[in-house]
Amino acid sequence: MQRVIAFFILSLSWPAAVLAQGYMARVLHHPVPGGVAVIPLGTAEQAPKVFYGKDRVMVLRDSDQQWIAVVGIDLKTAAGRRAIRVEGAQGEVGFQVGAKNYKSQHITLKNKSQVNPDPEQVRRYEREYKEQIDAYRRFRDAGPSNVVLDRPVTGRLSSPFGLRRFFNGEERNAHSGLDFAVPAGTPVKAPADGVVTIVADYFFNGKTVFIDHGQGFITMYCHLSAFQVRQGQEIQRGQVVGQVGATGRATGPHLHWNVSLNNARVDPAIFINAFQP
Ligand code: ZN
Repeated sequence: MQRVIAFFILSLSWPAAVLAQGYMARVLHHPVPGGVAVIPLGTAEQAPKVFYGKDRVMVLRDSDQQWIAVVGIDLKTAAGRRAIRVEGAQGEVGFQVGAKNYKSQHITLKNKSQVNPDPEQVRRYEREYKEQIDAYRRFRDAGPSNVVLDRPVTGRLSSPFGLRRFFNGEERNAHSGLDFAVPAGTPVKAPADGVVTIVADYFFNGKTVFIDHGQGFITMYCHLSAFQVRQGQEIQRGQVVGQVGATGRATGPHLHWNVSLNNARVDPAIFINAFQP
């Protein structure tokens, strides 16, 4: 009887449609704001071309031979029905975005310019912001070496993705990545093969590295103390890209790690099997 009840509970929390799908669908499908929707697209010979809004979407062949669209859902997306556009006969394919509650955090910064930057700093930030969005928008046809990622550092997870943040009482953007509490100097390793698209020292993010893993799957590492790679370099999974530091707007040494799909920052915990619903 207990087994029957356990099975019934499992079926409730794990939709039958997902059970029938492949490995990547089972790991990555968390369709909430800041999450990922995995949408099956059949078994045609050629990979379908998919868009979400105006951004190209990653399409991979899963372990069950189905093509899947792996869609990043922006944190600001409201719960409800959304759709991707598949080129060709399929047209629009709908999917459901559920709700998720994220916690709040209050941070006190002594450096007032990092709470309310002066006009010169705002211009600098805007320039840097555009450069980073361009890097997030890159799309290469070559697929990633792996989508289930290695942790870039070994250490305790601290601030989770999606935290609503108040700096000196003023609400700012929610936390776009996942923090690891690790000492300065800890080597940061690439979690998959890729091309280094940005090596820069930014106002908020400090010393920053961007890696393009292919198909719009981009990761970012910031507040580094030093770089081990240069822009344009092809790197391998496990290669050291830099060392942990506290550059930019950071209250102490830690690694801030962003993961992006189709120009939507999504919860990195999903890709290291550490997602908290
Ligand atoms: Zn962070």
